Order: sequence, then C-alpha cells, then structure tokens
Amino acid sequence: MRIVVGSRNQHKISEFKKEFSKINIEVVGVDEVLIDKNVPDPIEDGNTFKENAIIKAKYYYDLTKIPCLCDDSGLCVVDLNGDPGINSARYSGGSDKDNRDLLRKNLKGIFPATAYFNCDLIYYDGKEIISANGKVYGEIIDEERGCEGFGYDAIFYYPPFNKTLAQMDMDEKNQISHRGVAIKEMIN
Ligand code: IMP
Repeated sequence: MRIVVGSRNQHKISEFKKEFSKINIEVVGVDEVLIDKNVPDPIEDGNTFKENAIIKAKYYYDLTKIPCLCDDSGLCVVDLNGDPGINSARYSGGSDKDNRDLLRKNLKGIFPATAYFNCDLIYYDGKEIISANGKVYGEIIDEERGCEGFGYDAIFYYPPFNKTLAQMDMDEKNQISHRGVAIKEMIN
C-alpha cells in the first residue's frame, strides 16, 4: 500500500516514513508524486487543528488521487492561553528561529513555561476519513538546546528524558512526540 503525506515539511515526512516503514506501508511526500511542483499549498482557514488537517487531506487527495495522510500540528503554551496554537507555523511571519525567538520574548521571563504539542492526523482516501490525535507535554525553556528536528524543538524540554526534542534522534522523538503518538493511534 502507498500513502501520500500531504506536506512539504521534509522533517515531518521523514517522521512518517520511519514509522510506516515498520509496517511495510510506503509513504511518499506530496512533491514526490505531483508533476507540477508549483501547486500552491492549501489555505488553512479552519478554526481547529482537526479542521485544518481535513482541509489539507481533501486537498491533496483531490490532487493526487492517492490515499492521503495529513497532520495539522502546533505548540500550545498554557501561560499564553494556548498560543501559538494553530498559528504555530506563521507565528512571527518569519523563520522557525524567528518563531522561537518571538515565543521566548512573549513569555516575558515566565520560564519554564508549561506547554504541549498537539497533532491531529487525518487519513482520507476519497471515501473514508479516519482521525487520530496525539499530545506531548513539556516545558518551554529560555535557551536553545540541540540541533535535530525543526520548529520549536530546540526550546521544548521533555523532563522524562532530560532533553529537548532537538536533542533526540528521530526514533526517540517518535516514541513520545505528539505526531508519534497520533501515528501509533492511526496505525492501530
Ligand atoms: P503545520 O505544518 O501547518 O501543521 O504547522 C506545524 C507548525 O507547528 C510547524 O511549522 C512548527 O512550527 C510547529 N510544529 C509542529 N510539530 C512540531 C514538532 O514536532 N516540532 C517542532 N515544532 C513543531
């Protein structure tokens, strides 16, 4: 079986590939199957992670006609009333590093700050929608640690491992991460 991951984020695609290869399902990124690489990204105008994941899954299924897996994920910081939440990718309007710097600035010295990553994962094959959810709780710290991963990984500290997500290899991160948990639920 072949599934397309509706994302252009190579880190995310690698995390999906790693987990699905364990059950012999071939996962490809959307740019591996789209002939026109200039196809725009879908407009994520849902109000929740789940709504946005459904928007993306339907969009990429319609384009590829291949069963599609899409996640919408992000970081929710309790002291910031759940921000950046569904706006995690576009929080600062700049790079991942800009997003991390803005978050640390907006926390105004409240460190460590309780936070969690959320992942809503949708499978859509033109008929059926299957959904799964995963969360991981941790703390936002006021310094960058590690250089693996992407997004907010370097400032998201996971106490049980005494590491940030950016100090974990992919197997370790997938064991505990929001996306890893949602993928396991989806596979089950
Ligand atoms: P999406 O691609 O629209 O789901 O946006 C996800 C955004 O949330 C990313 O651009 C990151 O900023 C953040 N994010 C989601 N998952 C992770 C993760 O595993 N590590 C770090 N940041 C993440």
